[in-house]
Amino acid sequence: MLQLSKFPVKTLKSAPKVSDNKSTSYLLQAWFIRQEMAWAYNYLPYWLRVLKKIENIVREEMNAIWASEVLMCSLSNKESWLKTKRWDTVDVLFKLEWSGNKEYWLNPTHEEVVTPLMQEFIQSYKDLDNMSVYQFQTKFRNEARAKSWLLRWREFLMKDLYSFHRNQDDLDRYFEIVKKAYINVFNRLWIWKDTLYTFASGWAFSKYSYEFQTKLSIWEDNIYVCSSCWQAHNDEIIGEKFECVNCKKDKYEIIKTSEVGNIFKLWTKFSDAFWLKYDDANWVSNGVVMWCYGIWISRLMWVIAEYFMDDKWLVWPENIAPASHYIIVIWDNLEKAKILAKQIEQKWWEIIIDDREKIGFWQKAWDSDLIGIPNRIVISDKTMESNSYELKSRISSEIKIIKF
Ligand SMILES: [Zn+2]
Repeated sequence: MLQLSKFPVKTLKSAPKVSDNKSTSYLLQAWFIRQEMAWAYNYLPYWLRVLKKIENIVREEMNAIWASEVLMCSLSNKESWLKTKRWDTVDVLFKLEWSGNKEYWLNPTHEEVVTPLMQEFIQSYKDLDNMSVYQFQTKFRNEARAKSWLLRWREFLMKDLYSFHRNQDDLDRYFEIVKKAYINVFNRLWIWKDTLYTFASGWAFSKYSYEFQTKLSIWEDNIYVCSSCWQAHNDEIIGEKFECVNCKKDKYEIIKTSEVGNIFKLWTKFSDAFWLKYDDANWVSNGVVMWCYGIWISRLMWVIAEYFMDDKWLVWPENIAPASHYIIVIWDNLEKAKILAKQIEQKWWEIIIDDREKIGFWQKAWDSDLIGIPNRIVISDKTMESNSYELKSRISSEIKIIKF
């Protein structure tokens, strides 16, 4: 149970004006985040509670497909990046210089770390039975294009999963498993019905990559959706004329979205660079086939904030809200109220009790709405006359009187 008298939050009377989006204003106003500098934010307790719940949903779905969680270094090893020839070609790096002219950078992605790491384990085809590892890691990208409000952050949290396979058939099977896990994640976060599985550019690795793009009123990408079969395409892969990759027809509509996840085929690009090979059943040496699968965790949170907010406040789904219930006490016997709040907590899910002194009922009720807590409970002199409390739903505004 969270007691607000012991919690470092201080909501603002009005929403600060920021660039071009309302959810960031609300998040600043409701004391979820504080900006440190351009494109870098400090996470405050409410934000962290939501973030950890999203992270946990992703973790459960990754564990369910037998992926193993690791945490790799943020600092890079220059030799590894020289091996893949990306030290001088990737342009979004934060480079650091240390004594003795040693150079490092902060990893923007982890193929150069995970490939030699897994090389210590993988030798035989028996080591490649849907083998995958994943992590939640802060990534750094020195984005020149740091203009868009949530896509181009310089510091952000990402879930990246890397899978290792004997051949393409193995990989294709595993791909479907991961895709289903991603759909589970977006379903559990209530955005799957407005999220498009999208063909995008494969960049240096292959013809296509795959993205999960969520429809938003404020957007970063234009997605071309085929009018015949509803296949979505990122505008990166649209040439002079639209042709659906699936049914080859040419009619489309444009939908505005933000990217929340992606899947890249890496093939043997990295395993070749590091000589990551395995022996098959006939003792023939083969290159390991690799894929990587990302979910932009901190951006996903912004997308969810933007997707669910109404015209006045934040609105969080109950399973990821900072708490499911917000209790306001208008009763002299605060200590007794806390005991009753514990009882409610056993019955419900997760409680914030607003026990701040010198703050009136309306301010507390307003805070509860602003923060986006789905249910509000009032314990007052009046409700205690009948040994009960008042429960109000944020969505339906319905009020119920419930006995202790
Ligand atoms: Zn089509």
